[in-house]
Amino acid sequence: MQIKAPKGVADILPDDIPMWRYMEHALRSALERSGFAEIRLPIFENSQLFSHSIGAETDIVAKEMYTFQDNGGRSLSLRPEGTASAVRAYLENRLYERNPICRIFYMGPMFRAERPQKGRYRQFHQLGAEVFGTDSAYLDAEILALLMRCFKRMQLTSLKLQLNSLGCPECRPQYKRQLVVFLGDNQAGLCADCMRRADTNPLRVFDCKNPGCKEVLAPAPQSLTSLCGACKDHFEQVKELLTTLEVAFEINPRLVRGLDYYTRTAFEIVSSQGDKSPDKSPDQSPLGAQNAVAGGGRFDGLVEQLGGPKTPAFGFAIGLERLLLLLQEQPPAIEPSAWVYLALLGEKAKRKGFILQQNLRQQGITVQMNYADQCLKKQLKSAHNLGAPYVVIMGDDEIKNQRVILKDMKDGTQENVPLEQLIGKLAEINS
Ligand code: AMP
Repeated sequence: MQIKAPKGVADILPDDIPMWRYMEHALRSALERSGFAEIRLPIFENSQLFSHSIGAETDIVAKEMYTFQDNGGRSLSLRPEGTASAVRAYLENRLYERNPICRIFYMGPMFRAERPQKGRYRQFHQLGAEVFGTDSAYLDAEILALLMRCFKRMQLTSLKLQLNSLGCPECRPQYKRQLVVFLGDNQAGLCADCMRRADTNPLRVFDCKNPGCKEVLAPAPQSLTSLCGACKDHFEQVKELLTTLEVAFEINPRLVRGLDYYTRTAFEIVSSQGDKSPDKSPDQSPLGAQNAVAGGGRFDGLVEQLGGPKTPAFGFAIGLERLLLLLQEQPPAIEPSAWVYLALLGEKAKRKGFILQQNLRQQGITVQMNYADQCLKKQLKSAHNLGAPYVVIMGDDEIKNQRVILKDMKDGTQENVPLEQLIGKLAEINS
């Protein structure tokens, strides 16, 4: 019997690793340059952490969490996202005592029992980052600019930044009241879930994927028109600072995010290649029917809500599988897994090559050799498959003459190099 991986769960194969490393390295170095330090968070947590923070009425908690009881009867859940754990760790380890502003990031698998499709999986990976300790609009603009710059450096120029403001505990109740009146007036077109949400958590109606509900909700009141003075000023300042930094954005008044903890700024970075225009089917878009690569915003009340001191915060998460799908459209130049390949013919050459391989590695050169005693043609094919730009060819004659052939795989030219000069020459080309 062949046992397969669970639905929506994929292996990341050796061929894909260079691209994953490229992504992780690019994001990690951009964050570290901006003062973020890595934190490694647990894969599972007490279930309560997620229901108290993300919200018991959200799809993520109500429908998509992998929850189980351990032998002690405790309810645990595989993490569906990282912010709740980051806040828990920030409080539990009193990270706020070290520095008034705390910048952390994490990377790793998240789990949601969604219906799998292209760009949507049950185990997927996020890189997330959070900043605790300031409610300044400068922070919102700094992080949004950082993200957009980072994507631009990866040549992803078709991404759009969408912004909204969800208000604060001052102005949101008034907005909720307006929304509840609207939902009451439009009950007829809403599904049972939305009717329930109208009573329990009205903002969540905007997460409904039902096309009928979407149509009914199109003229619903918008949070932006109910912002209090302080939230309005904050949002204006974010927009003004982004304009100063020449970061393009558009306002999306329907953007509510599927999690309860957001206040004020909420954003998504979407692929315009995923635009649902009539002449583009989801299959043609690199992200399928999904289009958000990253999302986040402010969560000024969450630390307090989870038992900590009043601490404003801002964070985001990037979906790495979706970023990968976009990068695969225009693959960046990735380091080959062998920069030089040793094609060795005969036992003497193999022994000499074995030592050469060690010496080249000590010089920091990525090298692989062939152990299979294959013919030259096959060895050159292996070099080609590994993407090696150079091949050293060595057989009995070369050993006798103490010279080897250095082949440039790009233009096919060959050069005869004295053996004692080979390492120096390769190091020079590689530098
Ligand atoms: P969220 O935590 O829902 O704000 O999602 C942040 C980002 O994670 C999204 O913009 C996606 O790129 C990614 N993401 C969320 N859910 C999934 C999923 N089921 N499969 C793949 N990526 C996901």
